[in-house]
Amino acid sequence: MNAHLEHRRRRGLLLLVSSPSGAGKTSLSRRLVADHADLTLSISATTRPPRPGEEHAREYYFVSDAEFDDMVERGELLEWAHVHDHRYGTPRTPVMAALEAGKDVLFDIDWQGAKSIAENAPEDSVRVFILPPSMHELSRRLYARAQDSVPVIEGRLRRAYDEIAQWRVYDYAIVNVDYDQAYADLAHIYHAERLKRDRQGWLSPFVEGLLGEKLG
Ligand code: 5GP
Repeated sequence: MNAHLEHRRRRGLLLLVSSPSGAGKTSLSRRLVADHADLTLSISATTRPPRPGEEHAREYYFVSDAEFDDMVERGELLEWAHVHDHRYGTPRTPVMAALEAGKDVLFDIDWQGAKSIAENAPEDSVRVFILPPSMHELSRRLYARAQDSVPVIEGRLRRAYDEIAQWRVYDYAIVNVDYDQAYADLAHIYHAERLKRDRQGWLSPFVEGLLGEKLG
C-alpha cells in the first residue's frame, strides 16, 4: 500500500455555525459533533446564567463578569462579543489543542464571532447560517422551548432580525424546515469541505506515490 495512505493528516477546519436563537443551530451542531469523532465542539465562556438543565463545562463555562474580564485581559479568548445583554467568548487553548491533534472544530457562535474568526483564519473557516422557515415559526419554537422568560424571548426575537441580516457573508445557508433534512444538509457540507483538496495535505505525496507505481 502507498505509505502515505496510512498518514492521512488533514488540515483541520473551523466550522462556524450561526443562526438566530431558536432556529435549531445548537441541536444540529451537537448532533454533528456526536456523530463525528474528528470534530470537536468549542465550548464558550459566557456571563449569562445557566438555563435549567445546562451544566458548567458542557453547554458553556458559566463565569462571572470579573472572571470574564480576567479572561479578556489575559488574552485567553480568540474572540468575544456582547450578545443579548451578556458576553460570550471562545477560549483559545482548546481550539489550538484540537487543531494540533488534527481535529476539526465546530463553533456555535453569533455573526460577530464568526466574522472575527473567519477574518483571522480565512482559509480554514467554513461559515454556515441556519435560517428559520418563518419568523412566526421561530417565535413559536422559542415559546415552545419555554427555557427563557417572556421579556428574554421578546429580546431574542428582536435580535433575530439583526442576526439574519448578516446571512450574506456565510458560505452556506440551510433553511431548517425539517430537522432531519437540515441535519443531512449540514453533514453534507461538512463532509464535502473535509474533502477539499487543499485540506488534505497528505494527498500530494500520495499522488506522487501513485504516479511512481509501475504496473507489470
Ligand atoms: P444562547 O444564550 O442562546 O446560548 O446563545 C446566544 C448567542 O450567543 C447564540 O447566537 C450563540 O451562537 C452565541 N454564542 C455562543 N457562544 C459564543 C461565543 O463564544 N462567541 C460569540 N461571539 N457568540 C457566541
